[in-house]
Amino acid sequence: MHGLMMGCPLNISGILKHAERNHPNGKIVSREVTGGVFEYTYRDASIRARKLANALRNLGVVQQDRVATLAWNTHRHFELYFGVSGSGSILHTINPRLFPEQISYIINHAEDQVLFVDLTFIPLLESVYSSLNYLKHVVVLTSEEHMPTTSELPLLCYETLLNEASSNFEWPDLDENSAASLCYTSGTTGHPKGVLYSHRSTVLHAWACSSRDALGIANDTTVLPVVPMFHVNAWGVPYSATMSGGTLVLPGAGMDGNSLYELIDGYQVNLLLGVPTVWLALLQHCQKNELTLSSVENVVIGGSAAPISMIQEFKEKHNAFVMHAWGMTELSPVGTVNSMNRYMASLDQHAQYQLQAKQGRSVFGIEMKIIDSEGNVLSHDGQAFGRLLVRGPWVATSYYKHEDRSAWIDGWFDTGDVATIDEHGYMSIVDRAKDVIKSGGEWISSIDLENAAMGHPAILECAVIGVPHPKWDERPLLLVVPKEGANPTQDEVLNFLSGKVAKWWLPDSVVFVDQLPHTATGKLLKMKLRETYRQALMSD
Ligand code: ADP
Repeated sequence: MHGLMMGCPLNISGILKHAERNHPNGKIVSREVTGGVFEYTYRDASIRARKLANALRNLGVVQQDRVATLAWNTHRHFELYFGVSGSGSILHTINPRLFPEQISYIINHAEDQVLFVDLTFIPLLESVYSSLNYLKHVVVLTSEEHMPTTSELPLLCYETLLNEASSNFEWPDLDENSAASLCYTSGTTGHPKGVLYSHRSTVLHAWACSSRDALGIANDTTVLPVVPMFHVNAWGVPYSATMSGGTLVLPGAGMDGNSLYELIDGYQVNLLLGVPTVWLALLQHCQKNELTLSSVENVVIGGSAAPISMIQEFKEKHNAFVMHAWGMTELSPVGTVNSMNRYMASLDQHAQYQLQAKQGRSVFGIEMKIIDSEGNVLSHDGQAFGRLLVRGPWVATSYYKHEDRSAWIDGWFDTGDVATIDEHGYMSIVDRAKDVIKSGGEWISSIDLENAAMGHPAILECAVIGVPHPKWDERPLLLVVPKEGANPTQDEVLNFLSGKVAKWWLPDSVVFVDQLPHTATGKLLKMKLRETYRQALMSD
């Protein structure tokens, strides 16, 4: 027997319609690419999103056409999130940090018809434009006065298109399973692969992540997503904030410590979200200038492991609670969040920090399990580690126009991460399967070693990689970027690590470098480091 309830489709436009009716004066703040900070309301944004929907029609865009963006976190990008998906087209957000040939590949692979671009990225677009096969229009996200005058590309002006369009637009009722947006993985090997989100998956993900047991985005939240809108929909924050009418503060191109601090302090931001490297810069800025993040209550850190030293610094210097989060493009992206709960609250401060370093409990909707190399399910005892598999309504079932199904096993998605899960449901990433160091048949977690090393006061950033070793197959090598003015030695670092990790885990060598390479999404590019240091221990 079926229940007798309405099956109203979950549409992205429904989120904006709700905000327009229920939080019309809720605020959106946006740092402009051309300088200055722009402020308006959810009501204003709704009107402009409808104008945009009409402008898209005027450009000949129809439902299911792919519309691309090369843009920062700004109010115009926000309008595209709703105007494109809400009208039934598919928003393809492009990560400008990908290599130009990857950008050209994904624009062609997605068959993008129209591209909306921030002024900053016009040179990048010019460098690939001649290789684009389907693109009909390029729209610059600016007003007439800032339109470039020297570019040879046929460029349209966003504000002019909106001025010419009517604000009368009925958001269509779309099948909730129809595609809404498209994001490509950064793909360190091979071509990037497309993940095609649906209206249903996007709404459910944003809804679940808003919860206080997850990211906690509510009407009284002022949220600064430093995590970019050009990658995995800024962790769903633009949708979650719109659902609740919380103040959304968009940092534009200003990801440096000073620009972020200005927004945080100026708008009394209480929730931050971003990857660890962004917070390194902000914390350093605060330290140098003796500043405190007094309005900040919670900092969500994900994308790479948040070291305990960072969790501690946020708490002890800024009284801000770090919520570690884990996810990936294929998961929309959020899978787990380490929010405060009764269990954590019952622990002493030291034990809390240890627990916070874990990646957290699954958000309601996501199921997790770990398996060994034979596919046997392992127990959730916090000790057994194996490949982490997930399933849920916002997990991808395949890649867009791609044959490779190797990551899917009996309805579960193999994340490629190796993890433990404990009896309270806390998942802890041991390593990316390909980054685990195999020394003499035993495993060493590069993440645990990095975490321990980051506690050294002279270390700004570090990476641990496994490099070939004549006796042990692989041994750990530690690469260190010292803090400005600091000159730590190998012995100092190794002494610091002794006692914090098993003796046989101690790196065989410490190499000091000026900087470390990162992927397009801010992760350490370990593949490149392994190549560079392949021979480092072969003469041992
Ligand atoms: P994104 O595209 O968002 O960078 P990817 O899909 O490229 O994400 O990478 C996802 C991977 O990032 C995860 O499988 C995991 O290895 C790593 N990751 C994400 N969050 C964390 C975290 N909190 N701690 C450790 N690793 C993480």
